[in-house]
Amino acid sequence: MPLFERKPKQKVLLNTDVMMKCMCGMCPVQAESACSQPKLKMMMDMRASMGMKSEGIPAGSMSAMPSQMGEMKMPNPEQLPGPFCSIGKAACNDLDRNKACICNTCQVYKDYNLMAGKPVEHYCFNGQAV
Ligand code: SF4
Repeated sequence: MPLFERKPKQKVLLNTDVMMKCMCGMCPVQAESACSQPKLKMMMDMRASMGMKSEGIPAGSMSAMPSQMGEMKMPNPEQLPGPFCSIGKAACNDLDRNKACICNTCQVYKDYNLMAGKPVEHYCFNGQAV
C-alpha cells in the first residue's frame, strides 16, 4: 500500500449550471422525505433567482463566494437537496434507498460523463462522484 494515497478528484463542481440542471429535486429517492422538503423548496427558490453565469465553485465553499452566485446568501451543502454528485451524501436520513435513482437521466450526468466515474448512482447515499 502506498505511503500517501491520493484522494480521488471531485468530478462535479457546484455552479449555477449544475444547480439549474440538477434533477435531484425530482428524484423518487427523496420525494417522500420530510427532511428534504424545506431544502427542496429552498432549492426551487434559489433556481428561480439564478440568472447569471458563474464559474465552478468547489462544493463546501458556496457560502464564501456569494458574488459568483448573485447577491443571494448561499446555504451550506448540508442544507441542499442536491446535487449529490457534487456535494456528496445527503444530510437527511429519511431518503428511500429502494427507490430508483434517476441520475442517469440527468444532463449533469451526461455533461460530466459520470457513467465513467464512481459511484455510478445514488450519490445521495454513496457520496460524490469522483
Ligand atoms: S446526476 Fe444525480 S446527483 Fe447529480 S445533479 Fe443529476 S440527479 Fe443530482
